Amino acid sequence: MPVAPKTFRSPSQPSRQHKRRRYDRVRDQEPSRAWYKTARWQKLRWSILVRDLFTCQKSGCGRVETETSQLVCDHVEPHRGDEALFWNGPFQTLCKACHDRDKQREERLGDRFQPYSIPSGVKPSRIPVHLVCGAPGSGKSTYVRQHAQAADYVIDFDDIRERLGLGRYGGQDLGFAYAERDRMIRSLEHRHHGECWLIVMAPTDAERRAWMRALGRVTVHTIDTDEDECLRRIMADPMRQGYLPPLVAAVAKYFEENRKQFR
Ligand SMILES: [Zn+2]
Repeated sequence: MPVAPKTFRSPSQPSRQHKRRRYDRVRDQEPSRAWYKTARWQKLRWSILVRDLFTCQKSGCGRVETETSQLVCDHVEPHRGDEALFWNGPFQTLCKACHDRDKQREERLGDRFQPYSIPSGVKPSRIPVHLVCGAPGSGKSTYVRQHAQAADYVIDFDDIRERLGLGRYGGQDLGFAYAERDRMIRSLEHRHHGECWLIVMAPTDAERRAWMRALGRVTVHTIDTDEDECLRRIMADPMRQGYLPPLVAAVAKYFEENRKQFR
């Protein structure tokens, strides 16, 4: 009887373990790794575990775990380093077994995993992309309004939220808004006409370069409004009054990340 050959992997093919290490390295570079270490996160995590009565929310599991170190406060929508999504959720309590299964699924996406808010597996754009970077309140939307032509394609997360009825600056249920934004970014590989104006925060050169690698034909426009002026505009904008704490935090975070890269 013939014997099946042993599994063979050519040396050029990265092993699962190697992929895992690379994945962890990318994850460790994300600023969100530090957010998990804050008292604010500990408090938030605890409130979710209490809300869910220390019960795994995965359908079909429902494990009640009294050892809370074995429970995970999980982001239902992957936050991919986005600060608003990281802090606003939605969240669910998962037992370690269910969480690790999910994590393995994410890992299987392996090479398609992208840090920042770049959609996974996105293909290069066929039309030129203007990546407009800056803090909240820096004037990115105004800049795009002044420079985009009528036939151009504008991808502005604030516009998307507004269109979906989530409130221009609201932080609830952003999963749909992210899905819509990802869909718009993915559509760039099929577009033939006009140019794209893509509004992001992208506080660091590393993130801007990652967007350039992902989309190909990218021109970066940095809106260099200083921190005090961004805050002043946000405070003075009646539309943003209901959302001041997260917006102010996002401004602080932007400038902190921006300065950190030069240290
Ligand atoms: Zn579970």
